Amino acid sequence: MPRPIRATVSRAALAHNLAVVRRHAPGARVWAVVKADAYGHGLVRALPGLAAADGLALLDFDAAVRLREAGYGGPVLLLEGCFGPADFALARAYDLAVVIHSAAQLATLEREPSGAPLSVYLKFNSGMNRLGFDAPSLRAAYQRLERLPQVAGITLMTHFAQADRDGGIADPLARFDAACAGLPGPRSLSNSAAIMGHGALGGEWVRPGIILYGATPVAERPAASYGVRPVMRLESELISVQEIAVGAAVGYGGRFVAQRPTRLGVVACGYADGYPRSAADGTPVAVAGQIVPLVGRVSMDMITVDVTDLPEARVGSPVELWGDIVPVDDVARAAGTVGYELLCALAPRVPVVTD
Ligand SMILES: *Cc1c(COP(=O)(O)O)cnc(C)c1O
Repeated sequence: MPRPIRATVSRAALAHNLAVVRRHAPGARVWAVVKADAYGHGLVRALPGLAAADGLALLDFDAAVRLREAGYGGPVLLLEGCFGPADFALARAYDLAVVIHSAAQLATLEREPSGAPLSVYLKFNSGMNRLGFDAPSLRAAYQRLERLPQVAGITLMTHFAQADRDGGIADPLARFDAACAGLPGPRSLSNSAAIMGHGALGGEWVRPGIILYGATPVAERPAASYGVRPVMRLESELISVQEIAVGAAVGYGGRFVAQRPTRLGVVACGYADGYPRSAADGTPVAVAGQIVPLVGRVSMDMITVDVTDLPEARVGSPVELWGDIVPVDDVARAAGTVGYELLCALAPRVPVVTD
């Protein structure tokens, strides 16, 4: 019998969440962001649920080529653009739109022989200070791109650093509008937090990621409050149940010490499956549909939970680590991180099924 852990990816939930995004950005076209193997859900596996998206955005050329080979014929956008000169030929061969975020990328593109023209996303640095042109150099870059026969069209884009904060987009939006004033072409601004808080912000294209997968882009706000549904369910079973006495310590380092006679359940899921080792005592875990607290340190292959108040818990009881009962964001909070990280970190050893 296989180890009982498995993840389930719901294509219906993906399609539902995409429809929710559209309602928040009426009229805008949607780049479904599928970087990091569709946020850990599996790129090719996620495709049917995202069939209604207008295009797919990601980072790896390999993954983009895989999309084409899997028969995807829609627009594909490479969010970090080309990593070297050879990538421009690949982009052209596979009809991939590319971000241009730096002077070096622009210079490389200028040296490319002209051929089938590329669609280009020119990135403005609105305050993240990672990638993108600043205001003075954006205009010059735009004009150089405009002159290139190897460029088919220019979309102006930016990525917000603090769209999850109240008032976090006002200044960057003003900087973007000022920098791009008078430059023709479509715009693309909003990630999940911006879409759910402000819509498309006048952009022709939006770029939702996390919200499509049913986790929250805003730590203080539960995903369910946006009307989205979790796409990934991570489940396992109790593989042992035992009674421990007052004063008994549990797991590596003895982090948890029983304060009462305790029934302890052992779940076949650990950090080598992608469950965060930093999860604190009290992290919610659903056993037979009821939430019980994690107790003791997460180990490589197991966690331990206190099932004293759940007399029906026994070996074989179903466990949900995250999904419909336990939002992945609640586990993330208890581990000092965000749902994004947990979803992306689902380990390759966990079998994944779709429903
Ligand atoms: C990852 C990413 C997104 C999606 O962000 P979410 O917060 O997951 O919605 C959008 N745009 C760019 C440039 C990104 O890198």
